[in-house]
Amino acid sequence: MTSPRQVVVCGAGVVGASVAYFLARRGVAVTVVERSGVACAASGKSGGFLALDWCDGSPLEPLARASFALHAKLPREVGTDYGYRRMDTFMLVARERGAPAGRHRVEAPRWLDGDGVVTALLGSTATTAQIHPARFTAALVDAARGHGAVLRTGVVEDVIQRDGVAHGVRVSGEILEADAVVLAMGPWTGRFSRRLRLPGVTGLKGYSVTLVGADVPAHALFVDYRTADGRNLEPEIFPRPDGDVYVCGMADPAPLPDSPDDVAVSDAACETLARAAGRVSTALAAARIDRRQACYRPVTADGLPVIGRVPDAANAYVATGHGPWGMLNAPATGLALAELITEGAASLVDLRPFDPARRR
Ligand SMILES: Cc1cc2nc3c(=O)[nH]c(=O)nc-3n(C[C@H](O)[C@H](O)[C@H](O)COP(=O)(O)OP(=O)(O)OC[C@H]3O[C@@H](n4cnc5c(N)ncnc54)[C@H](O)[C@@H]3O)c2cc1C
Repeated sequence: MTSPRQVVVCGAGVVGASVAYFLARRGVAVTVVERSGVACAASGKSGGFLALDWCDGSPLEPLARASFALHAKLPREVGTDYGYRRMDTFMLVARERGAPAGRHRVEAPRWLDGDGVVTALLGSTATTAQIHPARFTAALVDAARGHGAVLRTGVVEDVIQRDGVAHGVRVSGEILEADAVVLAMGPWTGRFSRRLRLPGVTGLKGYSVTLVGADVPAHALFVDYRTADGRNLEPEIFPRPDGDVYVCGMADPAPLPDSPDDVAVSDAACETLARAAGRVSTALAAARIDRRQACYRPVTADGLPVIGRVPDAANAYVATGHGPWGMLNAPATGLALAELITEGAASLVDLRPFDPARRR
């Protein structure tokens, strides 16, 4: 096999950025094609929470463990501070109205002084961590550019094939030739599923807010929360090193729009999330909402990502469908796919559970 010299990576979310970084580091000439902006979708609006062992017991275990280890090394390797730090992680129960019965079941950090009950320590600084998702994704793209990669704005419309071999992509009406193509357009990769015989990929919408004005420690919180009108929600709260506190949750069945620029934000959903945060801590109750956001995580029917060779198009590859763990699993995905593309096989992790040719 001849290693490809020119590779087009479609999509500048965290997965495309990671593939581009590891390919560029191996001396491949990479062009990243992005329709809107680097990290404009889920990769810029996600929690950025990382866990060593929360995928244990599933086919994701080796990918997640390899990725958690890569995350620990990448800040030095990339040479950028994008807010990587280890955290302790707690589980709480809270209600929009009233207080749950019982007392804290583990020692509760003092800043959790609202009406919540701390029920468990879910992770420690040995097993849980965080990154700032948008800054991490941008740092990978910048590092790839430092190794010669080029970022191009445009809409990828099709994969160009001759006799079952991919030769590039059509970008906003123009042909961009390449020796290999990587599809990493998050949930929008699903738009190519039928014509390339890939497992279906769809988008699951979620909301998030960032709060400013609360000076709180590096403790991640997973909350079992009931609203006053009886809805059960599971907000996640991540204080960040830059002083913001990120809160997400609230799944919404709204269909994926054609462009990430057209994702609508519900003020009501964002207010609900901010209120939930305020129920567990007086510091969060006093904080102000800075950003209201919505985005779509890429999901598959079997809950596993799709990583590897496109079945019927030689030299075409895909990496998407990472669901709730795309920030965690992007580095190992990027490195393993770069190995597959340049060496013909991935040695970091076994990619067979994620084979794009699996039953659709
Ligand atoms: C609310 C929320 C919180 C989350 N929290 C976490 C967390 O704490 N930890 C974790 O590990 N994961 C988390 N995730 C999951 C994670 O964010 C996603 O799995 C990950 O961001 C997906 O990255 P991606 O690169 O595959 O897709 P995306 O981020 O969607 O990127 C795809 C890119 O492709 C571009 N694109 C689309 N179509 C085209 C086209 N035709 N041509 C060119 N470019 C195109 C888009 O503009 C976009 O930039 C969360 C997700 C959500 C929704």
